[in-house]
Amino acid sequence: MNNLNTDSFIDKYILNNFLDKWQKTVDMMAKLYNVPAGLIMKKDEESLEVLISSKTEGNPYNIKDKMKLFSGLYCEEVINTKNILHIKNALEDERWINNPDLKYNMISYLGIPIKWPDGNIFGTICILDTKEREYSSVYKELIYQFKDIIEGDLRNIIYQYEITEKVNELEKNRQAYEKLIEVMPEANILIKDNKIKSANEAAYKLLAIDKKEDIIGTDMLSIIKYCDNINLNEIIKGVEEKGFVRGVQGSITRLDGDKLYLEFSSTFTEFKGEKYILLIMKDITDKIKSDQIKMQLQKEIETDRLRTEFFSNISHELRTPVNIIYSAVQVIERDYNQKHIDKIGKYNKIIKQNCYRLIRVINNLIDITKIDLGCFKSNLNIHNIVNLIEEITFSVSPYIKLNNMNVVFDTEVEEKYIECDTDLIKRIMLNLLSNAIKYGKSDGNIYINIYDKDSKVDISIKDDGIGIAKNKQNTIFDRFIQEDRSFTRKCEGSGIGLSLVKAFVELQGGTITLESEEGIGSEFTISFPNKEFYKEDSIIEKDILITDIIDKANIEFSDIY
Ligand code: ADP
Repeated sequence: MNNLNTDSFIDKYILNNFLDKWQKTVDMMAKLYNVPAGLIMKKDEESLEVLISSKTEGNPYNIKDKMKLFSGLYCEEVINTKNILHIKNALEDERWINNPDLKYNMISYLGIPIKWPDGNIFGTICILDTKEREYSSVYKELIYQFKDIIEGDLRNIIYQYEITEKVNELEKNRQAYEKLIEVMPEANILIKDNKIKSANEAAYKLLAIDKKEDIIGTDMLSIIKYCDNINLNEIIKGVEEKGFVRGVQGSITRLDGDKLYLEFSSTFTEFKGEKYILLIMKDITDKIKSDQIKMQLQKEIETDRLRTEFFSNISHELRTPVNIIYSAVQVIERDYNQKHIDKIGKYNKIIKQNCYRLIRVINNLIDITKIDLGCFKSNLNIHNIVNLIEEITFSVSPYIKLNNMNVVFDTEVEEKYIECDTDLIKRIMLNLLSNAIKYGKSDGNIYINIYDKDSKVDISIKDDGIGIAKNKQNTIFDRFIQEDRSFTRKCEGSGIGLSLVKAFVELQGGTITLESEEGIGSEFTISFPNKEFYKEDSIIEKDILITDIIDKANIEFSDIY
C-alpha cells in the first residue's frame, strides 16, 4: 500500500470507524496476557507510530508517540523479518542492549507483523512486559487471532477505499461526459420512452429551438415539421434491436421551414444511472449541397463532351450519304450524257440506300428532340404482341439472310394482348435487329423469343456476335454512346439508336435490360406489364403492317453495308 496515499483517507474516513474497536481489542489483549503494554504500531517511511496503546496500568506508551526506525526496536525486527518475535528477557541478549524500549524497562516482548491486503507491512501488534515472560504456543497462537481481526478490518478499509475511489472516478467521468456532450459540435438528444429528456446546445441550434424547456418531455417528432426521407422511429427501433445505428443520412424540414440534410447515429447510453437512447445528428447540408453541385458540374461537363462528340458523329452521318449521293448523281449525269443508260439503275440503288440513311438519321434526330421536349405522341392501343413480333421477324428475315445470318423465332404463347404503339414496336425491333446484324457474326444466329411471365411479357432479341464489354453495359442506353469509337468501325451509326429504343419502350410503360458477354453475344430483353386485355379490344392491322414494315426496314437497315 506504499504507493497509495491512504493515510489521509484512513484518518478522515475509515480509521475513525475502527479506532474504538481496535482500542478495545488491544485492551482485551493486554488483559489476557496480563501485561502493562499492548500496542498496535503503524509504520511509515522513517518511523513507527503508536496507533493504539492499551489502557492498562503501567503502560508508558502514548498514542501518536513516534519511534525512529533503525534504533533497534523490537517491532523493527518484526517488520524486517516479517515474522513473529518472542523475547523472554532482553537483558539476557546483547542484541537488545540499545533497544529504546529498555528505557521503560520493557524486557519481554511478543509481536507479529500486521499486513495490508497486498502483503505490504502496515505495522505490528505486540505486548511488552517489565518481567521475564515465557509464552506457551497457545498464547503465541492467540496473538495471531488479534492480528487477523486487525487485518480483516484493513481489508474492509481498502475495499471501502477502492469503492470510494471508483465512485469518485465515476462522478468525475459523469461530469466530464456531461461536459463533453454539451460542448460537442454534433447535436445530441437523449430520448427515453420516445420522449426527449435532454439536448445539448448544438441540438437547440440545429433545430432552431429558442425555448429549451419547450422541447423537454415532448415527442421527438414534434420538434420537426417533417422528415422528408428518414424515419426516426425506424432509427430508434434499430437501436433497440441492434444496440446502435450508424451514419443514416436523410433530410428533415425544421419548424421554421428550413430543410437540412442530417446524418443520424444512435446508441444506448447511461446517464445519471438511467438508460437512454442517445441520438446524434450531424449537419451535412453543406457537404450534400456541394456534392450535388459537383455532380451536376461533372454531368454538365460530360453532357457537353458527349454533345460535341454527337455533333461530330451526326455531321459524319449526314455528310457521308450526301457525299455518296452527290458522287452517284455525277456518275449518272456522265453515264446519261454518254448514253450508258443501263448503268444508271445501279447508281439509283446507291442513291436510294443513302437517302434511307439520311432519313434514318433525321428521323432519329427529330424523335429524340420531340422526346426531350416532351411532345412525342405515341398511339397506344391493344395489340397481340406475339402476332406483331412474328410479323416483324418474318418481314425482315430476307434482310437478315442477305447478311448471311440465321433467324430463329419462338414463343411460349400464341396470343398476348398488351397496350402498345405498333409503330414504336416496329422501330424498337428493327433497331435491335439491325444492331444484332451489325454486331453479329457471319453465319451467326439471331434468336427472337417471347416469354409469358406472371407479371410481364418478355421479348428477347439475342445474338451470338461480338458482345458488349461489362464496363460499357451501364451506359449503353445513354445518349450518344458508341462502344467502338475508332474510325475502323465495321458499321456506321450515330449512337442514338439504343437511347431512342429505351425511350420508345418507356413511352409504352415497358423496360429494357441487357445481358451480354464479350465474344459470346448480347441479349436485349424488353418487358411489358402483363395486364388483362382481350381480343375484342384489340385492333388488327395486318396488311398495313407488311408494306409499312418494308419501308421502315429499308430505313432502319440502311446503314448495314
Ligand atoms: P449505333 O447507331 O452506333 O448502332 P446504338 O445506340 O444502336 O448506336 O448502339 C450503341 C452501341 O452499342 C453501338 O455502337 C455498339 O457498340 C453497341 N451495341 C448495340 N447493340 C449491340 C449488339 N447487339 N452487340 C454488340 N454491341 C452492340
